[in-house]
Amino acid sequence: MEFKPTIGLEVHAELKTKTKMFCNCLNNPEEEIVNKNICPVCLAHPGTLPVINKKALEQVIKVGLALNSEIPEYSKFDRKNYFYPDLPKGYQISQYDMPLCKGGELPLFLSNDLKEVKKKIKITRVHLEEDTGKLIHSGNGKSTLIDFNRAGVPLMELVTEPVMHTGKEARLFAQGLQLLLRTLGISEANMEKGQMRCEVNISLAKDEKLGTKVEIKNLNSFKAVEKSIDFEIQRQTEALEKEEKITQETRGWDAEKEITYSQRLKEEAQDYRYFPEPDLPRLHIHSKEESDGLFNLEEIKKQIAELPWQKKERIKTGFNLSSEEANQFIQDEKLMIFFEQVVEEFNSIKLENRKKAISLAYNYLTSDLKGLMESESIIWEKLKITPQNFAQLIILLSNDKISSRVGKDILAEMVEEGGKPEEIMKIKGLEKISGESQLEPIIFEIIKNNPKTIEDYKKGKENALQFLVGQAMAKTRGAADPKSLEELFKKQLS
Ligand SMILES: [Zn+2]
Repeated sequence: MEFKPTIGLEVHAELKTKTKMFCNCLNNPEEEIVNKNICPVCLAHPGTLPVINKKALEQVIKVGLALNSEIPEYSKFDRKNYFYPDLPKGYQISQYDMPLCKGGELPLFLSNDLKEVKKKIKITRVHLEEDTGKLIHSGNGKSTLIDFNRAGVPLMELVTEPVMHTGKEARLFAQGLQLLLRTLGISEANMEKGQMRCEVNISLAKDEKLGTKVEIKNLNSFKAVEKSIDFEIQRQTEALEKEEKITQETRGWDAEKEITYSQRLKEEAQDYRYFPEPDLPRLHIHSKEESDGLFNLEEIKKQIAELPWQKKERIKTGFNLSSEEANQFIQDEKLMIFFEQVVEEFNSIKLENRKKAISLAYNYLTSDLKGLMESESIIWEKLKITPQNFAQLIILLSNDKISSRVGKDILAEMVEEGGKPEEIMKIKGLEKISGESQLEPIIFEIIKNNPKTIEDYKKGKENALQFLVGQAMAKTRGAADPKSLEELFKKQLS
């Protein structure tokens, strides 16, 4: 009997606001001095009162609008009560029954599988809350210190419906959400830095009913999201096959051993004693009648740039790229801008084979140029090649004026020194030599100078021919076409 896994995600993301959620302290995730950005409000001193950061509300509404969520007219904040040393108030200001965004969906647009791309993951809600401080455990395990720089930083929480069925789907969802948050400019959403954190809930059942829910926490990479789910599916399947009962619990992920382990039994919502935050007013977010709400949704919509899945479709069809190729571009904005300028250059001249040029440009950009930039640690801003000169190089290649070997050499030279590819080609005499009249003198010379190899060739040694071609390639500094050389040698030696 097969067991069907059902998976939901809970994602937290730190917002990129100037100040914290309820006070004027700086929100600086890069701050290295502990307890620098703190004040009586975020340290929960008696008598202090929170003030809402309007920008944070706007950012979460933006996410909701991008996901096609409903933005209710009214919203409010609630207290979620629990004790933990990194939570000075003894409660977290969060949202319970009136979140900023309800419903919505995110397509699995980063998948290369057409069926998966069309799958839209339903969102339950997106709300706003505050982050906690950070515990720093001493090396000897005897003491723990607390850094409150992060306490009170605006934190978005997004919850999906339990509609995913594999680790891969969950990973694609999280990667897509990260790209959306970055595109909207509201969070860096770097998982390694804890700016985006995923929790998984997973249950297995034979029929459409849901089984016992297990939660997996502390997942700080996309790989961990996928692998921990795959592990849990395996673990729970084996247990259910032996007719063991699954415990409702929270499990952690051991990234080294690649296993989940039991942490604690799961709390229920009622354990937190949620109640409306008495120090904050109910919020009139927007109004269908004119402008008596806090926000004008139409104005926020106008600020939303092209969404990543829209961009993917546009460049896929516009440039005739595959899904994998388009993914490279939508995940690297600077590469994308460079590529678009290169293609623009193609459009400005008469090009025999535009399709071939675009595909060459893609290859030289994503493997050769990116490779050179990585090995020399060059950033886009410091790059000496302009998109126009890069386009000219691709045109030389596309029109068969230079061989691909020479193309790579010229590219390396341009990365080093800048300059126009045509000039580099002429100065260094790298133009492709393919005419018989140009190649014959070189071939005669090589035959004359290598009598031993010629003998070997005549005895039928295949690599003798390769040696001769290699000699000729060296002589022409890679400018000759190896295929034509081979033909010519065969002709001369037959
Ligand atoms: Zn503060």
